[in-house]
Amino acid sequence: MSKLLQTPIEYLKGVGPNKGEIFRKELGIHKYQDLLNLYPLRYLDRSRYYKINELVDSNTEMQIVGKIVHIKTVEQKSRKMLVATFADDTSQMDLVWFQGHKWIKESLKVNEPMVIFGKCNFFNGKVSMPHPEIELLEEHQQNVRFAMRPIYPSTDKMSGRGITNKVVGKLMQQLFSEVHQDFSETLPTSIMEQLKLISKKDALINIHFPKDSNLLAKARFRLKFEELFYIQLQLITNNLVRKEKIAGFAFEKVGEYFNDFYHNHLPFDLTNAQKKVLKEIRSDLANPAQMNRLLQGDVGSGKTIVAFLTMLLALDNGFQACLMAPTEILAQQHFEGISALAEPMGIKVMLLTGSKKIKERRIIHSALEDGSLQIIIGTHALLEDKVKFKNLGLAIIDEQHRFGVEQRSRLWKKNTIPPHILVMTATPIPRTLAMSLYGDLDVSVIDELPPGRKPIQTVHRFDSNRLKVWKFIRDEIALGRQIYVVYPLINESETLDYKDLMDGFENISRDFPLPQYAISVVHGKLKPDEKAFEMKRFVDGKTDIMVATTVIEVGVNVPNASVMIIESAERFGLSQLHQLRGRVGRGADQSYCILMTGSKLSNDSKIRMETMVNSNDGFEIAEVDLKLRGPGNLMGTQQSGVLNLQIADLVKDRDILMTAREYATALLKADSKLQKPEHQMILRVFTEHSKRKNIWNYIS
Ligand code: ADP
Ligand code: MG
Repeated sequence: MSKLLQTPIEYLKGVGPNKGEIFRKELGIHKYQDLLNLYPLRYLDRSRYYKINELVDSNTEMQIVGKIVHIKTVEQKSRKMLVATFADDTSQMDLVWFQGHKWIKESLKVNEPMVIFGKCNFFNGKVSMPHPEIELLEEHQQNVRFAMRPIYPSTDKMSGRGITNKVVGKLMQQLFSEVHQDFSETLPTSIMEQLKLISKKDALINIHFPKDSNLLAKARFRLKFEELFYIQLQLITNNLVRKEKIAGFAFEKVGEYFNDFYHNHLPFDLTNAQKKVLKEIRSDLANPAQMNRLLQGDVGSGKTIVAFLTMLLALDNGFQACLMAPTEILAQQHFEGISALAEPMGIKVMLLTGSKKIKERRIIHSALEDGSLQIIIGTHALLEDKVKFKNLGLAIIDEQHRFGVEQRSRLWKKNTIPPHILVMTATPIPRTLAMSLYGDLDVSVIDELPPGRKPIQTVHRFDSNRLKVWKFIRDEIALGRQIYVVYPLINESETLDYKDLMDGFENISRDFPLPQYAISVVHGKLKPDEKAFEMKRFVDGKTDIMVATTVIEVGVNVPNASVMIIESAERFGLSQLHQLRGRVGRGADQSYCILMTGSKLSNDSKIRMETMVNSNDGFEIAEVDLKLRGPGNLMGTQQSGVLNLQIADLVKDRDILMTAREYATALLKADSKLQKPEHQMILRVFTEHSKRKNIWNYIS
């Protein structure tokens, strides 16, 4: 890489200390190199010249060749304007200035061929162009003309200080001439040949000064590929380093427990997706390196049985296993589910939560320590220092986003060699994003629901239709079903949200009175034991309706609940709506989700409601969410350096991302430390790149 590119930006002719300061502050441009990497946001097509009688109201810039035939100053509503009549061989139009009259009037040349450029106004059949850019035709033809004119990122401060797009363009030309276009190649010849990429030098020239749209497209492709390639290289390297450094237990045997369960006690056939994921987990566990795997599966896709089979592999190899859930209720439900599976095999399972009495805890603690207890299910209580294992080999974490990195690392310390970690989540993360974010974490996906499920029917109803909705609920309750009514609670302390919920609860209580109907209510202001008590009443079928805030969002399983009503649904994000809907449809009955909204909806809200009504597929929904909100707003992605991309777009460029990942994987497979002579250039660029981009490690 040319040393010149490391020169501080103020040394570039035309920049100086003042502009240099603005470049640094506004765009983070410190060096020549940074300016070179300031890629245009878009391009204007200046290849086309219009005739005045061809102009149409299209809100885009257009350029016209003609002459000024007349200049005058006009006063309109006590405002002075400078108006020049501009003509070509088809018609006439006005050029208008509201400011800088004197200076402009002096510079305008009458009857000289010129090119004007700008957006037109159309009024009463008359065309005018305010503040056009003007160039004499002769000059225009002499200047290097690029058909596509780049528009650079800018800020108010920049334009306020006269650093216009034109100025940035000029500085870019200056930069190219000062460094003599001495840009070294940053991708290996083999990849360039296989993908038919243009050289780095040609890419840089054409991204800033495109010769034509074809070369521009090639330049963009090459630079996007390069950016994604080096990010993938870094993510995959992190992963390899982790596997080498962090030794783990090798679960070499598939033994009694696993085989006995698999052949004699499996309550149903596994879906193909479950089998595939199990295979991935088994191959991880067989290696003497710690597993760090994220298991994604939509609500109801059957993650629990996969978790249980994984636990059996630990037991087969003489290890203990634990499963940690974010709430008592969830831990309780997992305990019941896992116990039911384990019991026929004579495996003991216990539950450890904060509400256990000291005496019970002591029993559990000592059973874990002497190894007589093989499987423990629990909450954060598992993390306490008092909880010691004889030989913990596997830790499973349900619903990952509720746990922080700190807590996970405490699990690691529960054995001399860290246990294998399986993180389960029902929050679908679009594949492309998962690949970029968790490139250093292995991801398994259960992308298929067990057979025979009745898809949940989702409808969108306006508040004005509430009576009909209530009638529907009455019918469902009469059939013995249970109902959720959920209110938004964006912030637990938001008094308004709380009031909405309590008003709603009062209304529902009036329409569904005791003794015929029993209602539970759960919200953030209840104490944990009150919450648990109300939840339990509903879980046990003692109440018909559960009025709640989103506290019920995660994992609760009440198969008898068949209707989910979401109030003010327009206030929820798509992934949250989908999570909430996943609370129903868990039993044999047809289930329903009713989205209640006001009548006035924003465009985004309409798209969200339509998406929910039309799709039950969590990944499809996550893709729409990603498009609506952008990757920066998806759960857990905010801190990610991966998303500060210069030119690539994780949504639009997924194909390039996949290709980049393939090539990065192949390269590291052949030469994991980039030691071969032919890879020295990649190593150099890679090292530079890693210094610049600090990629967020998900689980370290
Ligand atoms: P989640 O992935 O949401 O945790 P669960 O593991 O709770 O899903 O499974 C949801 C329901 O589907 C459970 O009642 C479970 O017994 C059932 N189930 C899981 N896998 C299968 C399968 N392959 N065939 C039939 N039913 C299954
Ligand atoms: Mg679950």
